[in-house]
Amino acid sequence: MIWPRIIGQDRVKHLLLSAMRKGKLPHAYLFVGNDGVGKDAVALELARVLHCEKGGEEACNECPSCVKVDSMQHPDVKLVVALPVGKGEKADDQPLEKLSPDEIRLVQEQFKLKAENPYCRITIPKATIIKINSIRDIRRESALSTYSRRKRVILISRADEMGDAAANTLLKTLEEPGGNTMLILTTSHRGALASTIISRCQVVQFDPLTETDICAALVDRNGVERGQASLVARLAHGSYSKALELLQDDVTVQRQQVVAFVRAALGSSVVAITDVVEELCATKDRDVLVRFLNLVLMWFRDALVLAQGGQVINLDQQDDIKRFVSRFSQADLIKTLADVERAIFLVERNVYINLVMLHLAVQLRSNILPYMISRQAEAAQS
Ligand SMILES: [Zn+2]
Repeated sequence: MIWPRIIGQDRVKHLLLSAMRKGKLPHAYLFVGNDGVGKDAVALELARVLHCEKGGEEACNECPSCVKVDSMQHPDVKLVVALPVGKGEKADDQPLEKLSPDEIRLVQEQFKLKAENPYCRITIPKATIIKINSIRDIRRESALSTYSRRKRVILISRADEMGDAAANTLLKTLEEPGGNTMLILTTSHRGALASTIISRCQVVQFDPLTETDICAALVDRNGVERGQASLVARLAHGSYSKALELLQDDVTVQRQQVVAFVRAALGSSVVAITDVVEELCATKDRDVLVRFLNLVLMWFRDALVLAQGGQVINLDQQDDIKRFVSRFSQADLIKTLADVERAIFLVERNVYINLVMLHLAVQLRSNILPYMISRQAEAAQS
């Protein structure tokens, strides 16, 4: 496997290698694709390969150049990201010049994390835009010759975070490219970039990663147990970074919450269901709740599969699901799946989350216990 640090993306690797072999690397690439599929990782790997002193198609990991790129210390390989704006900062200042020592330390820490794992997402407090200072810096440098007589590689990560002034300055650089500099812009929001910028770059589309690739990466790189890795890979929707986030959420705990939620929805205590919903919604984080609902979805999908004699995903919960299927044989699982999907849709669209979850609990109850509901209705009528 070539470029073993990169998860999947074989088509992209071959495309870049082929351009390298023909000596046809463009002066600017735009890598487009969802978050967490490896756009930055591929850009940094390409930089490593181009600068490796062994000069092959694979970085050797050992030469001084490889070591410098690995620690983000290479003078001809640069990473540009959104940064905070310093007090009294002007466009001519160096990007870090007016930042406080604390801010600089935070920036350095994030660069170190990125160097250790190019799949990690850089998060610097108050860094919302790529500053014009950073782009001016690139422009200045592009005019100079490189240290190593190889192509200077400048990665502008999440290029859609450029402000207008920065984008205009970059446009000038793209219009008069220096022969020795290759820019690589990455974005997961292509629509947020000016068409004048896109048209001056060679666009490379990245695919979502396969579940198999994510699962293998979680097992090999993160030491995750295979069963959990396969579950997390399924929930990550093609994004390795998302899979890593899911691991932090502790999927095991969330899956226990799924059982608690279903149990409370089917029970007769209104207090119990209100408590569970309040606990679930306490985070106020819609992403966490959406991931939880995806687990609920998977649980009922497994119940449906099992009811039809198939193989489930939640292997460790198989017994629970079996018990559920035999106990609630009349449950309308198809409608339940549709209701959970609808709840996900609503949570993603800013509807009051506690209400969505309470409503879902009521729906679950009527789908799974239809006879209880009709009995209650009869009781109410008599
Ligand atoms: Zn090397």
